[in-house]
Amino acid sequence: MAGVCDLTLAETRDALARGDVSPTELADAYVKAVEAARPLNAFVVETPELARDMAKASEARLAKGEAGLMEGIPVGIKDLFCTKGVQATAGSHILEGFVPTYESTVTANLFGAGAVMLGKCNMDEFAMGSANMTSYFGPVENPWRDAAASNKKYVPGGSSGGSASAVAAHAVLAATGTDTGGSIRQPAAFTGIVGLKPTYGRCSRWGIVAFASSLDQAGPMTRTVRDAAIMLRAMAGYDPKDSTSVNRPVPDYEAALGGDLRNLKIGVPKEYRMDGMPAEIDTLWRQGAEWCKAAGAEIVDISLPHTKYALPTYYIVAPAEASSNLARYDGVRYGLRVEGATLQEMYENTRAEGFGAEVRRRIMIGTYVLSAGYYDAYYLKAQKVRTRIADDFRHAWESVDAILTPTAPSAAFAQGEKMDDPIAMYLNDVFTVPASMAGLPGISVPAGLSADGLPLGLQIIGRPFDEETVLHVGQVLEGAAGFDAKPAFLAG
Ligand code: GLN
Repeated sequence: MAGVCDLTLAETRDALARGDVSPTELADAYVKAVEAARPLNAFVVETPELARDMAKASEARLAKGEAGLMEGIPVGIKDLFCTKGVQATAGSHILEGFVPTYESTVTANLFGAGAVMLGKCNMDEFAMGSANMTSYFGPVENPWRDAAASNKKYVPGGSSGGSASAVAAHAVLAATGTDTGGSIRQPAAFTGIVGLKPTYGRCSRWGIVAFASSLDQAGPMTRTVRDAAIMLRAMAGYDPKDSTSVNRPVPDYEAALGGDLRNLKIGVPKEYRMDGMPAEIDTLWRQGAEWCKAAGAEIVDISLPHTKYALPTYYIVAPAEASSNLARYDGVRYGLRVEGATLQEMYENTRAEGFGAEVRRRIMIGTYVLSAGYYDAYYLKAQKVRTRIADDFRHAWESVDAILTPTAPSAAFAQGEKMDDPIAMYLNDVFTVPASMAGLPGISVPAGLSADGLPLGLQIIGRPFDEETVLHVGQVLEGAAGFDAKPAFLAG
């Protein structure tokens, strides 16, 4: 299937600038690629007409020499983003049929930079999950297959599983994701692509359906680190409509790429070396450190002593905020309404039918930890531990410039696995959640294959608003790993 859809975002941008391909031709090719990828169930809604209209407008801007950073680039948008005139469901029955009358700031930024929307990407319901098995619109399939057992279907990770699958299957050039505890980085690792969670406050949350507001961040999911740098620049920026958006200039992330790692100290935290971690993950992690060293970095053993509390703390803070955020779905204001004899009954019927099992579990945990009598013991305690976790990182930045870890404790698992054990599912986030709790930027880059032939990722965590170093180190790892394996789906 070699062709225009096999170029990277950067290569496509240059091909468009040279006139080798037009935005319309590109949109047509990608509309076909989205159709071909239908077996993966990566999209909740496809928007081919809109894509063609946007491509036409892009063509006019290119002709006038007014190309934006993402001019003519076909993208997928996670269905958590409100898109004006196009349904936004957050993967939930309760929002089915909800057509926003406004555009989220991040999508507005992307479209303002010339990006062309191919559709809304499937996701775990309300971004709760690590396998994209909780969507009301059905599970998403990973385009990768087990080298030995090719009939087995694998999860793409979650919650941005549709975005990850679509990028890996070359159905889009790039996609937006959101990451609350790992939802960009873990699916990126599972599908052999690049996923970057920016610093909390770098991308506006306005118009993104809220899960846990103190953790949610939007970010790029792409095939290369360079592509992530290009896309982040187009997404990021100060937004007065988001009170936690930070007013700092957006650097030219692409310009920060290149060169070796001399003068950089890279930390390897001993607490991430966990019991029961598969040997192949540990081997890849050591290999990653070797690659950094070979590029001139100094490897420093560090300690992040509160690491083991990050996951339990996350599973108090995130459900607490979710239970509060999800109170607004009452059958009156958005989407689904299931009638009842009284107003109270209508609320109950709507919420009982509208939310899936995982979302109900989180709402119950959240209301429990916030209830009178338990608030101090759980929620307040969790907030204090969160501060400790952030302090660990602050301390680490005194001796290192970036931190190297695995992205996830395993490769992708088969669809249906871990479904009867929420804790086993939550463990997927063990390496991604600490940076989320501390609001730090983190990238996952594809770095190797598991024994089964499935992708594995390495994570680089950076200082607040130092996405440049994160991308720079990420690109060095990407180059050293030379990951060029292709998912089975692309081989036909
Ligand atoms: N898997 C984690 C969860 O279920 C993280 C999700 C996310 O980052 N949105 O909460």
